Amino acid sequence: MSDHVVDPELLAIMQCPACGGELAERPEPPALVCTACRLVYAVVDGIPNMLVDEAVPEAEEER
Ligand SMILES: [Zn+2]
Repeated sequence: MSDHVVDPELLAIMQCPACGGELAERPEPPALVCTACRLVYAVVDGIPNMLVDEAVPEAEEER
C-alpha cells in the first residue's frame, strides 16, 4: 500500500501545532487530522499545511 499522504517519517515527528496532539493521515481529500482536537490540516502535493489559522475543525468541514 502506498496511500500515504505524507512521508511516514515526517508524520512520525510531527504533532498538532494547536494542541501538541498526535496526527493521523486521511487519504481523501488528503489531510492530517489531529487525534486530540480534530483539527484538519490540508495536504497539498505531500506538503502539510500546518497553519492553525487555516486548519478546519473536522466537524465543520464541508463535503
Ligand atoms: Zn490538536
